[in-house]
Amino acid sequence: MSEREMIRIEHLNKSFGDLHVLKDINLSVHESDVVCLVGASGSGKSTLLRCLNFLERKDNGNIFIQGENIIPKTHDMNEVRQRVGMVFQHFNLFPHKTVIENIIEAPTVVRKVSKDEAIAEAKELLKKVGLEDKADVYPSKLSGGQKQRVAIARALAMKPDIMLFDEPTSALDPELVGEVLATMKELADEGMTMVVVTHEMGFAREVADWIVYMNEGQIIELDRPEEFFENPKEERTKEFLKTTA
Ligand code: ADP
Ligand code: MG
Repeated sequence: MSEREMIRIEHLNKSFGDLHVLKDINLSVHESDVVCLVGASGSGKSTLLRCLNFLERKDNGNIFIQGENIIPKTHDMNEVRQRVGMVFQHFNLFPHKTVIENIIEAPTVVRKVSKDEAIAEAKELLKKVGLEDKADVYPSKLSGGQKQRVAIARALAMKPDIMLFDEPTSALDPELVGEVLATMKELADEGMTMVVVTHEMGFAREVADWIVYMNEGQIIELDRPEEFFENPKEERTKEFLKTTA
């Protein structure tokens, strides 16, 4: 296991008006680790991910990406976001573009890759997510699970070093959840550094290296999955686990 720190969060605070949503968050994520972020709705999980991808601006604290303290005013945020890919609950594919056009958009525009090269890369990615036969169809012809796998391929097309997932299976019909989780597990097995907000406790237990339990904007417990599920330390964790059983 690598000890390289990919993400380091120090004393991160974030408020929306009077609502203190993230309260002194400290967390580090090492290379190839899969961290599953769990907790009740409203506890600040999405806000934390959005701060990590700099879609949301922190009030104070530090966020280091691969050792670099990221200061939005002075950093090229496109370059930083290229290193930190994100997949959302809703796939946000461009409806008027085919699958492959969706995937090559960012590499050609942001990474300035030639169209031929981007297409070749996109085909590899489609193979990886099991959708090589869907390159030329429009998103409306895909199931939710297929759309989400395209969204994953699209994020990977930027060659990120870190992938963030915000409840990637929550909008899916139950029978489509497994295929997306399988794709994510494959990515984890290949050594991708991942932070995954999820309600899929089976996935968290099987794939995560660490579980982070958040409640009301604070990290209450951080533990190895086995410890977390078998032997939770905090009363609030025990209460939370009852609600997921
Ligand atoms: P979770 O992802 O754990 O459900 P969120 O991070 O989405 O939690 O939200 C945490 C809290 O912050 C909630 O009370 C939510 O209503 C509030 N919140 C999130 N985004 C905004 C926003 N843009 N403006 C105001 N309040 C927000
Ligand atoms: Mg959320």
